[in-house]
Amino acid sequence: MTKAITILGATGSVGASTLSIIRENRNSFEIVGLTSHSNAELLAALAVEFAPKYVVLSDVRHIAVLEQKLAATDIQILTGEEGLEFLAIQKADLVVAAITGFAGFKPVFAAINAGTDIALANKEALVAGGHLLMPLATQKGVTLLPIDSEHNAIFQCMMGQKWDHVEQVTLTASGGPFLSMTSQEMYHVPPSRALKHPTWSMGAKITIDSATMMNKGFESLEAAWLFGLDKKQICAIIHPQSIMHGFVKFKDESVIAHLAPTDMKVPISHALGWPERLKITCEKLNLTQISNLEFTEIKEDQFPSYNLAYQLIGDNPCYAIALNAANEIAVALYLDKQVSFGDIYKINAKTIDLIKLTELPDYHSIIDYNNYARNIAHSILPSL
Ligand code: NAD
Ligand code: MG
Repeated sequence: MTKAITILGATGSVGASTLSIIRENRNSFEIVGLTSHSNAELLAALAVEFAPKYVVLSDVRHIAVLEQKLAATDIQILTGEEGLEFLAIQKADLVVAAITGFAGFKPVFAAINAGTDIALANKEALVAGGHLLMPLATQKGVTLLPIDSEHNAIFQCMMGQKWDHVEQVTLTASGGPFLSMTSQEMYHVPPSRALKHPTWSMGAKITIDSATMMNKGFESLEAAWLFGLDKKQICAIIHPQSIMHGFVKFKDESVIAHLAPTDMKVPISHALGWPERLKITCEKLNLTQISNLEFTEIKEDQFPSYNLAYQLIGDNPCYAIALNAANEIAVALYLDKQVSFGDIYKINAKTIDLIKLTELPDYHSIIDYNNYARNIAHSILPSL
């Protein structure tokens, strides 16, 4: 039986790994839709190769390229946020959520609301909207399969286990490119250095989040939502080899860990194949060639961004939305060389200090609050 799949963010790093797994398992999948923000050339090439029913280019400015390249096909071309939301509710067995940032929230909400299972890479959607998305998923009978490697590891550790028996889950962090530096030494590092991740190859935004360790803070919030855990049940430690991706400690002191090569194809293939497993080509794990597996604590004074996010687990959702919004702005400015690496933390912390808390009961209130928090973050910039 084939699985019908939509890939939101098909032209990114997770999108590329997803499509390479599908290429290797061509008879197991049919593609309903593929999307890209602005990479019309690549989206067109993927559309020709995978023959989806729909493609969506959310940034309409490059539409002419796509229309011209797909003129001889019957693939339907859509644009904008409306295009994404339309595609997200089309019948599919699985939607791969691989858009980066809050931009993924609306289509993820739409897909869950339509009752479609999600393979989730877009952690920001859950960081900002977990309090809405998780109950909705339960109500609609939707399964959320984690693609993020640490969460996929925990999911795999829990296969056949009971959450009642769990004391703590641990997510591992590579430590990023600045593990041997103090926060002062990191303050003015240029984007070219922050973009060189030691173990993972990923999109620019998550690579910077890994260098600040905000990524691990977001992942702690993501784990809380995905697995229904409170703050004390989640922790993160540095493991520079990125081979053990997560582990679970049970009340009888048993620890079950997940190990895999440092390749996103492993967790993605697990989510795509679930409940079966797919054969994939990737580097193999040879434990006899690994001299040691190291584990150390995350130091607060070295990576303050981690705790900034971690401490928000279980708190008013306004904080996490604001942190995510400020961080998107700060990372984009840093990549554009308008602020320093160290300013990312300052912008994030100040935004959280300045926001006014409110109730966020529904979809529109979350979107409005994200815009409000972005405005607060922008208002801080002149005082940096
Ligand atoms: P990427 O930057 O490589 O790709 C992002 C994709 O989203 C692209 O297809 C892009 O066209 C699309 N996109 C970007 N902005 C958009 C917008 N405003 N509207 C619509 N589409 C937009 O990112 P990535 O590294 O593939 O990461 C995607 C998501 O997966 C992120 O949330 C990231 O945190 C998560 N994730 C990534 C990895 C990884 O190894 N890359 C690992 C774990 C989790
Ligand atoms: Mg991760």
